[in-house]
Amino acid sequence: MQGNVTVANLGYPRIGEDREWKKTLEAFWSGKCGEEAFYAEMERIQLAHLEVQKAKGLDSIPVNDFTYYDHMLDMAVMLGVVPARFGPTGGTVPISTYFAMARGNENAAACEMTKWFNTNYHYIVPEIGEAVPCLTENKPLAAYRFAKSRAGIEGRPVIVGLYTFLKLSKGFPSHHLTDQIERFLPVYVELLKQLEQEGVAWVQIDEPALVADTKAEEFERVELIYNTIRDRVPQLNIMLQTYFEAVDNYERLVNLPVGGIGLDFVHDSGANLKSLKQYGWPDNKSLGAGIIDGRNIWRSDLDAKLALIHEILEHVPGHRLILQPSCSLLHVPVSLQRELKMNKMIRDALAYANEKLDELTLLKSVVSDNMTGDLEASRNALSLFRKLPERNRPDVAAQMAGIDSLRDKRNLPFQSRFEVQRRKWNLPLLPTTTIGSFPQTAEVRQARLKWRRGEWDDARYGMFVRQQIEQCIKVQEEIGLDVLVHGEFERTDMVEFFGEKLAGFLFTQNGWVQSYGSRCVKPPVIYGDVAFTGAMTVEETAYAQSLTELPVKGMLTGPVTILNWSFVRDDRSREEVANQIALSLRKEVEALESAGIEMIQVDEPAIREGLPLKERDQAAYLEWAVKAFRIATASVKDTTQIHTHMCYCEFHDMIDSILALDADVISIETSRSHGELIASFELNGYDHGIGLGVYDIHSPRVPSVDEMSEMIDRALRVLDPELFWINPDCGLKTRGWEETAHALRNMITAARAAREKLTGVIQ
Ligand code: GLN
Ligand code: ZN
Repeated sequence: MQGNVTVANLGYPRIGEDREWKKTLEAFWSGKCGEEAFYAEMERIQLAHLEVQKAKGLDSIPVNDFTYYDHMLDMAVMLGVVPARFGPTGGTVPISTYFAMARGNENAAACEMTKWFNTNYHYIVPEIGEAVPCLTENKPLAAYRFAKSRAGIEGRPVIVGLYTFLKLSKGFPSHHLTDQIERFLPVYVELLKQLEQEGVAWVQIDEPALVADTKAEEFERVELIYNTIRDRVPQLNIMLQTYFEAVDNYERLVNLPVGGIGLDFVHDSGANLKSLKQYGWPDNKSLGAGIIDGRNIWRSDLDAKLALIHEILEHVPGHRLILQPSCSLLHVPVSLQRELKMNKMIRDALAYANEKLDELTLLKSVVSDNMTGDLEASRNALSLFRKLPERNRPDVAAQMAGIDSLRDKRNLPFQSRFEVQRRKWNLPLLPTTTIGSFPQTAEVRQARLKWRRGEWDDARYGMFVRQQIEQCIKVQEEIGLDVLVHGEFERTDMVEFFGEKLAGFLFTQNGWVQSYGSRCVKPPVIYGDVAFTGAMTVEETAYAQSLTELPVKGMLTGPVTILNWSFVRDDRSREEVANQIALSLRKEVEALESAGIEMIQVDEPAIREGLPLKERDQAAYLEWAVKAFRIATASVKDTTQIHTHMCYCEFHDMIDSILALDADVISIETSRSHGELIASFELNGYDHGIGLGVYDIHSPRVPSVDEMSEMIDRALRVLDPELFWINPDCGLKTRGWEETAHALRNMITAARAAREKLTGVIQ
């Protein structure tokens, strides 16, 4: 008997089993659902989530994890951080302002959004600026009351910690962090005070920023926050929650004056357990042990989890141990109930949010009541799954064994390739091109749907796609682009398309997770060894090439992006899986080349996303990520031109890795970090082909020729015109044809003007 451990959840997915949450939000935004109906439906969804968790028998259920958009936005609005462009501030913030901050309106641009640590969830970045801290409402209190009165649940309110909140905010110099803490702390304390007065027993304060290389001197700020809270709100128990990595400053952290601390024992590379063993656990503190992976969809090996629990129990008494997911379950789909079409053996090896909660309560019953019999079903499911032949393919193993002997460097260095390619391609100075996709109109989507439903056969759909390609080539020629693309009409999504054609991938029916706001994604699942099964893009690309004398660029998604946008098997390293994908893509690159496609773009928009949170792990990641890209691309002829494309992130601090990809040309999004990127080129130069997006495709606005000329001039102040390409900053699939054609015409006019300026020759 190890004492009575308890079970907690840290956050439940918001989107609903059938994405009701998303649908409600979108109905409200489009005016199809009024305000009253909106609130009523949201309450119903929130209540349903509470009831599910209650039925699971959890000892601690989070409240205020539910939101109408994003938990960081909630915090900002609650603390009075509403930028002036959204109207007068102070007092309750209307729901229209709340959504305007997230989505923009006719008067004001939306707040920026960015990735929540190393996840695919995006939060709204608070703009501190001139904001005067004030408590505009107490959302956690309202959520606590709601759970209590409507579901009889004594919930545990969750809020973002002040340290993390401010670390992720912008609009003040980072060395003023202490000033900002001092400014916001009284309001933050007031919020907690109200919870204390209500009789709330525990509050979960999320401080994931504490795992991202917190320096010792930074930690003083954390101590300032938690000492103040202890002094001012002494009756409230604080569960200080960390996740996504091991904590820095373990000894100081566990001695903070709080009732409990939550640690991630899944994504910590073993470091949290090591610290626990080395430094022990303070008396009188609870440990929230994140033992079930909150970021992946695999069923847990419960025997391994039990062993972990027993190791922890050597240092923490059972009554102080809380079993929990490694982080909020926001990052996994809701329930396996709706996965009706999946192969049973695979389905049985999965656990979405609801099933993860079952795993936790099962572990509790085993630890506390010794009910080991219930583990059998889980063991059997895993052992059957592990034996699936797709998971251990000898042919893939053989190829992987030979990977080190494969060429992962181009035959010639860039400078020499540049010369041979210049002769081969004979492109004008400042060549113009696009990033790959052209408008995915309603017509294109409907055609695909008809084909997927079986209403159209392959021949009919193929013909439709060919017609789209024809039209797209015609438009590009007519506009005057130099390097064309086929338009990607046959693709829904840049990962799904390849996943469906490669072995080792699986597509779920209902594996949705929130990406940002109401937007959900359904990541593919890499459950087996990845292998090439046949050419994926050759037909469409070669068809496009057959229609024009101008070069058509082939278009592939890179190995690291495919990896980072999927749920990946966890019995192999990410590096290994990336290499399996790279080997498959290498075959595709070679197939394109043999079909006469000798400009090939391999997109890596997500390369930055996989960057580990700890600086000490980043170099190793970048090294294998770069290597995977090179395995995919390095086998081509000297004259074959490899392009790549990156977007969504800031890249100025990884230019060395970008150069190490050794792509002949990169096109890179600049709307987010133009200043920093240019500054970094100013400092270090850039000596491969490069196109900085000269217009932002994320808006329907058509930029003028002058605006684009200015972007080109700015770039040419720091980049060599011989190496510079002119292109939009991302794919055009979300745009309409009219605005696209108009914007591209302006781009061509700007490009011709720039050439004239450089050469003095009238174009
Ligand atoms: N080639 C892709 C497209 O144009 C690139 C998309 C992306 O960068 N996310 O759509
Ligand atoms: Zn892009």
